[in-house]
Amino acid sequence: MSGFDRRTCVVTGAGSGIGRALALALGQRGARLAVSDIDATGLAQTVDALTGLGVEAHAAILDVGDRDAVIAYADDVVTRFGVVNQVYNNAGIAGGSDDVVSTDWEIFDRVLQVNLWGVINGTKAFLPHLIASGDGHLVNISSLNGFTAQPRIAPYCTSKFGVRGFTETVRTEMLWAGHPVRVSVVHPGGVRTNIASNALAEARRRGIPVTPEHERRVAIYNEKLLRMPPEDAAGVILRGVERNKARILVGRDAWIADKAVRALPSAYQGLVVRLDRFAVKRFAQ
Ligand code: NAD
Repeated sequence: MSGFDRRTCVVTGAGSGIGRALALALGQRGARLAVSDIDATGLAQTVDALTGLGVEAHAAILDVGDRDAVIAYADDVVTRFGVVNQVYNNAGIAGGSDDVVSTDWEIFDRVLQVNLWGVINGTKAFLPHLIASGDGHLVNISSLNGFTAQPRIAPYCTSKFGVRGFTETVRTEMLWAGHPVRVSVVHPGGVRTNIASNALAEARRRGIPVTPEHERRVAIYNEKLLRMPPEDAAGVILRGVERNKARILVGRDAWIADKAVRALPSAYQGLVVRLDRFAVKRFAQ
């Protein structure tokens, strides 16, 4: 029996990418699932895939940035299953690719609303239930950019550094109080999902000007940086959860960045700028 068998697991942003892969991997390991996403089409595809595996799931359309909706959702899940053992606060968006001065306020608001407030909302709404379960695990998805800064993605880096700080604080509180809740923060490197393309599509939908520079950066992400299959990322995350790792690094890029930031905490930013210039120049040729 695995540490997931018959556990009730909640996965947000389960309609695509890492969230879908997590939901399927948890279903395959015998978990009972509550899956949600803001995107009904993607969520329906995940539910179909789960049904194909013989896994019945509680599915809900949910905007993790909508606090009242998240609180009501937590009640729904508890009513349905009676218990919640694991929560994967995974839903997230990429945001813009301009420098701080040029980035619209609206993009800062939305990225922080989804990536940081979404994680805080999901954690606060479910934490009492995780404690009550007697066997809880909170898993918050940050990023390599939760410990490595990078130019032109300030809203994203800010949100993901915040997720790290928030999650590590919750871990200290669970340890301090002796509550039966394990806590992990996940730092994936590049995973092959639609996250970069979705950000571009969202900018177009909102009428935010998209320049060739933006398109080039998204192409660099899609072709060079987002490489690990989401199924592999889900496997690494669930292994880390089973081993009760406080920090789960996903991918070689995340490992290398972690080492570089620790070795050169004040100098790594210069290296990142050089790498960024190199990548943009190479890709323009
Ligand atoms: P993705 O775009 O494939 O999936 C994200 C899902 O979240 C989508 O289904 C989307 O509809 C959903 N979502 C977006 N806004 C939402 C909201 N307000 N409420 C509920 N659902 C919402 O992206 P992904 O790469 O699978 O991203 C999953 C998580 O992993 C994110 O938190 C992301 O920041 C993080 N991450 C991804 C990578 C990567 O390389 N792909 C790297 C590091 C961290």
